[in-house]
Amino acid sequence: MKIGFIKEGNDTRVSLTPEVAKKFKKSGHDLFLESGAGDLSNFNNSDYKEYVKVVSYSDLLKKSDLLISINPIELNKINSNFSKKIYLSNFNSVNKDNYLPVLEKNNIHSFDLGIIPRTTIAQSMDILSSQANLSGYKAVIKAAELLPRMFPMIITAAGSIKPAKVVVLGAGVAGLQAIATAKRLGAIVEASDPRSAAREEVLSLGARFIEVEGAVEDSSAGGYAVKQTKEYLERQKKEVSKKLELADVVISTAQVLGGKSPILIPKTVVDKMKPGSVIIDLASASGGNCEMTQDGKMIIYNDIKIVGNSYLSAELSQDSSNLFSNNVYNFLEYIINDNKIVDNYEDEIFSQCYITKKIKFS
Ligand code: NAD
Repeated sequence: MKIGFIKEGNDTRVSLTPEVAKKFKKSGHDLFLESGAGDLSNFNNSDYKEYVKVVSYSDLLKKSDLLISINPIELNKINSNFSKKIYLSNFNSVNKDNYLPVLEKNNIHSFDLGIIPRTTIAQSMDILSSQANLSGYKAVIKAAELLPRMFPMIITAAGSIKPAKVVVLGAGVAGLQAIATAKRLGAIVEASDPRSAAREEVLSLGARFIEVEGAVEDSSAGGYAVKQTKEYLERQKKEVSKKLELADVVISTAQVLGGKSPILIPKTVVDKMKPGSVIIDLASASGGNCEMTQDGKMIIYNDIKIVGNSYLSAELSQDSSNLFSNNVYNFLEYIINDNKIVDNYEDEIFSQCYITKKIKFS
């Protein structure tokens, strides 16, 4: 197929890396890249030259049948130039109600990579997992940089240093990576999550699990947590607050699919936290787990730094681009047959990700 990769706006990532371009080329596809698309990830146009034609944006639209970007391009750029094309992006990161009518009106067959089902077969295509993993790591590194203390315990002739205490809220993909990273740096780590599977994973990483009775679980929720009762959240807040008051670092990642993130760190608890401590709120795009979080900003309150950022993976632009690019490659390998995408509504991955259902493939 003729596949075109669009340059991102302010995002430092790129949807095709030279490493993955080689794999695409081997599969027989013709690749086009908007000039400069890899610049912010330190991949120059020349790094692609063996596998890809580097072109202008208007040429990219003319030459490609299938277009890919990490972030959906601005709504006002979606027009008849895209007509009959196939477009892959993370529409989950924008207001789909605004995009869908425009995509359908312009006859653009669109796939949302942000809603890949959480099945074993789809794991290699799951952009949320691959990016969350990197965000969990980066959250700890960022916290370590902002914290006026060390993570590991050390004993020196000038005295000993106690290990930092890290609390992780939400032990999913990002949370587990945060736990593993903080443990590697030598911190004492505690974590909370309502899913019983998460409890086992936390313990297996050598962290402590904050026990709270009465969580609601639903095995049909596809790996996601479901909304908890008011009573559970109250009990959890009480148990977690005791740990937060002693914490040096809090990494919060707690989310509920399609809903607002639960507030687990109210202002009254922040008021009791230690000066110098750091909160990295990875759930900030869906409202945040800390009542005081401001999405996309770092605020300092009572000498406590509160960082609201759900897109920390973008700060590891080479790795995050590589994983995203691999996810796209695996997705296309799965849905392309005989050099074209055929509609298969019986298939869970196709039917969940294909969002412009009013337009049929012909
Ligand atoms: P997520 O980003 O939706 O949520 C993050 C975490 O917040 C989850 O672990 C959730 O249980 C937790 N949470 C929700 N309410 C909370 C509360 N009140 N307090 C504390 N924590 C709370 O989820 P995620 O990280 O993307 O994934 C969750 C799990 O889904 C993973 O651990 C994994 O087992 C599974 N998963 C499976 C696949 C697959 O099989 N393809 C892919 C991705 C994830």
